[in-house]
Amino acid sequence: MSSTNQTNKFTRFLRNNAALLLLVFCVVAISAVVIAVSVTGDDPNTPVGGNPNDPIGGNPSDTPVDETPKPVIVKEKIYFSSPVAYQSVGMEYTDEEVLFVFNPTLNQWATHNGVDLIASENTPVTAMYDGTVVEVGESYGMGHYVKVDHGENVIATYASLADVQVVAGQNVQKGEKIGAVSTTASYEFADGAHLHLEITQNGEHVDPMAYVNGEIYREVEKTVTE
Ligand SMILES: [Zn+2]
Repeated sequence: MSSTNQTNKFTRFLRNNAALLLLVFCVVAISAVVIAVSVTGDDPNTPVGGNPNDPIGGNPSDTPVDETPKPVIVKEKIYFSSPVAYQSVGMEYTDEEVLFVFNPTLNQWATHNGVDLIASENTPVTAMYDGTVVEVGESYGMGHYVKVDHGENVIATYASLADVQVVAGQNVQKGEKIGAVSTTASYEFADGAHLHLEITQNGEHVDPMAYVNGEIYREVEKTVTE
């Protein structure tokens, strides 16, 4: 009986104070949520966000991806350059307007398919542009000569050379030494030491001076990284 009485009292207490109990429960629940948020809010951020990013290096591992050099294709003008540091021009090029120049060696007026660039003996002669040596030879009139295919149907003949340093089939780069100024061109002995330079475009002789003076260029596509 007494146990039944006590149960009834507890049930009656709950029923009479339901509102109060509900209020207390709500306060406790809200407090628990606030505490849980404030505590767990810090915890996940510090270990998960701080630790892995800092030691591994969050920033360094990100920046290379952002700053990875991107290849860009740009057009670059590459000029032909003078093949020799010359002091003066001896016999000039003869075209249809200037049919002949006087050749003091031969003591006669003659056509001259190139220019004679006068320089001290042994002055280096260099390739005017990248190319491939197509012929190395010697003739009585031209002396030692080197023919270089500079691409796009432009072939340069460097003659009256000594100290030829290239062989047929060899690739040469602009500025690379191919020989030296000398007096080996017997037909032009009176010019003294010089480079006899001829240039053909599509098989036709042209005045080499535009090339020598750095007026001729090609646009070359070049991949650069920025
Ligand atoms: Zn000449």
